[in-house]
Amino acid sequence: MSNEIIKVNKVKKVFRMGEERIVVINNLSLEIEKGKTYCMLGKSGSGKSTLLNLMAGLDKPTKGEIIFNGQHIEKMNENQLADFRQKYLGFVFQSYNLLSTLTALENVTLPLIFRKVDKKEREEKAMEMLEAVGLADRANHKPSEMSGGQQQRVSIARAFINDPKVIFADEPTGNLDTKTTYEMMDLIMGLVRKNKQTLLMVTHDLEVSDYCERIVHLSDGKVEEIIENNNVIQR
Ligand code: ADP
Ligand code: MG
Repeated sequence: MSNEIIKVNKVKKVFRMGEERIVVINNLSLEIEKGKTYCMLGKSGSGKSTLLNLMAGLDKPTKGEIIFNGQHIEKMNENQLADFRQKYLGFVFQSYNLLSTLTALENVTLPLIFRKVDKKEREEKAMEMLEAVGLADRANHKPSEMSGGQQQRVSIARAFINDPKVIFADEPTGNLDTKTTYEMMDLIMGLVRKNKQTLLMVTHDLEVSDYCERIVHLSDGKVEEIIENNNVIQR
């Protein structure tokens, strides 16, 4: 398939816990098509986060290949992986992962600091992103001075500021109430559609998975089935 952005080829991931070996991803193959939205769905412990981390170059497979845009990321060293992530990926985590000593604006500028964008341009772009997520009036607040939903908005602004090719989101609504969950999903999906990005998300929440075009059911480190969602939630 020429329109694929990520190819996971016969990947195995084994964790060692003392004497014990746990096979978390078991000879898994998966193709991710550019510009589509995917949700990994499965029970706790089924390997969703591990698979996401492998595709994002945050973890290395024990065996097998992960090819991103033609590049074998399983062969990259830590420096190459860090560059690769900064260049192509955006991340949204369940626990927001904001730096507590920095303001919302400063947190959002971080990916641009790594890209050596100058301060004025960084702050202008970060402010635009904060406006896009509806938080312009909280630019100078620290994470502890914001609600969970507001912190997640900041982390969404940070994830999208570099216009990444792929957005990775691991249980992005896991710590949020129902109303905020839908607000956050509407926001993420609106940005992904506008920018024509690829989204790879993990959830154990069936309703949240309905925001994605393809639902990848995982069980015991294997793809059980991939469902085409003909009723994508869109607001
Ligand atoms: P999910 O996200 O679907 O809940 P995970 O991918 O986090 O599942 O974990 C799958 C399994 O792998 C679990 O049994 C977990 O305990 C194990 N596991 C995950 N990360 C590690 C690790 N760093 N060391 C050892 N075991 C791990
Ligand atoms: Mg998980």
